[in-house]
Amino acid sequence: MTREVDVLVVGAGPAGLLAAARLATTGARVEVLERERWPGGAPAHCAHRGFGTWPHTRTGPAHARLLADAAVRAGADVRTGVTALDWAGPRTLATVGPGGAETIAARAVLLATGARERPRAARLVPGTRPAGVYTTGELQRAVHHYGQHIGDRAVIVGAEAVSHAAAGTVRAAGAEVVALLTELPRAPARPATTLNTRLRHRTPVLTGTTVTELLGHGRLSGVRVRHRDGRTVTLRCDTVVFTGDFVPEHELARRGALTLDPGTGGPAVDGALRTTRPGVFAAGSVLHAVESAATAAREGAHAATAVHHRLGTPAPDDRPAAVPLLAGPPLLRVTPNRVTPADRLPYLLRTAIPLTRPVLYVTQDGRPLHRARLPLTTAVPHRPLTLTARWTHRVDPGGGPVRVTVA
Ligand SMILES: Cc1cc2nc3c(=O)[nH]c(=O)nc-3n(C[C@H](O)[C@H](O)[C@H](O)COP(=O)(O)OP(=O)(O)OC[C@H]3O[C@@H](n4cnc5c(N)ncnc54)[C@H](O)[C@@H]3O)c2cc1C
Repeated sequence: MTREVDVLVVGAGPAGLLAAARLATTGARVEVLERERWPGGAPAHCAHRGFGTWPHTRTGPAHARLLADAAVRAGADVRTGVTALDWAGPRTLATVGPGGAETIAARAVLLATGARERPRAARLVPGTRPAGVYTTGELQRAVHHYGQHIGDRAVIVGAEAVSHAAAGTVRAAGAEVVALLTELPRAPARPATTLNTRLRHRTPVLTGTTVTELLGHGRLSGVRVRHRDGRTVTLRCDTVVFTGDFVPEHELARRGALTLDPGTGGPAVDGALRTTRPGVFAAGSVLHAVESAATAAREGAHAATAVHHRLGTPAPDDRPAAVPLLAGPPLLRVTPNRVTPADRLPYLLRTAIPLTRPVLYVTQDGRPLHRARLPLTTAVPHRPLTLTARWTHRVDPGGGPVRVTVA
């Protein structure tokens, strides 16, 4: 038996919940599937403040509750403990949950499956296989949801904002943070965040360092670290947390043979957040692992508008052709990464290296479409750059790829 709904949203994080709330208020039958036991996505595991709009920031769980309550109040059916396993048709998903297996068909599907951190194995860190090795997500679940003892001395691999959040979780669990390590020559988080860790918590943030080996049998006993100058030291610890290094949770996109963008690793989307399969949309961290919760929610709202338009349009697939949008080095990625002349959503980019007074150039087949000096003295890795979409009407839908480069 296949059950039918108007919109099936996969993932109850900020992107999926905001889209669901918007669509449910229009009268659409919206169902949200969430494989975890609670809705909210990543914020549900983040006990720290920093979600919402400054100065009215709230903790992750409070933010998650707010979004989930809004979606339910609007009339969306938010189902937890239900995993979308695979496609059973162009807009039909095979799922499994507490009630067993079920097939659900929809007029539109929104993939809002978020991102995951690359674990130790994917980072090719040699050494033994002891207990005490976590990603941030695993650490947060262990501490905040299950109240588990995570050890006494932890090394944090990474020094991005998320790494400092992981350090906070370690301290909340009563353990000591030995150090934060990064291979980068400069600490990538905001200077105030790094300073706070160094001065207030007296925790070293070691730049230019690489974890070369995990030590210990049964339980972790230390990590071997190589400094930029070749020196090797052993940091004694019983816990190590691999943070950052997020990749889009793109399994469903991949299994559905949706085109993936080589820059982001997530599904390729145009400015209406349409994937390459008609009626399948994507929003949030699955597109660009990872930006802020506000960005994910904004994209959820934007996707909701496009989905609503599709539901009310007799020939919804009659859309202008999208051409690829490519980011040239040192830019790492751009989202959205397909472009049509109708697109209005600003583009998010990331750079691999610091850029001083960056100027972005947009061209198609050598023809200039746009030039923008960014209002930043220095653009840095690990923080987004924004490019307006006010040039898209100049794109030739029959032309070659559009390129964004930096001077
Ligand atoms: C440790 C950490 C700290 C952060 N701190 C901040 C902060 O202070 N401020 C801020 O603004 N942002 C912060 N962020 C970023 C923010 O959490 C993300 O931008 C936001 O959660 C992305 O929302 P999303 O809906 O795209 O994905 P997610 O929140 O990741 O939600 C995706 C959901 O999809 C579910 N899912 C995936 N696949 C399936 C499937 N097949 N079937 C069913 N369900 C599925 C997942 O279980 C998950 O719940 C932080 C992120 C992390 C990891």
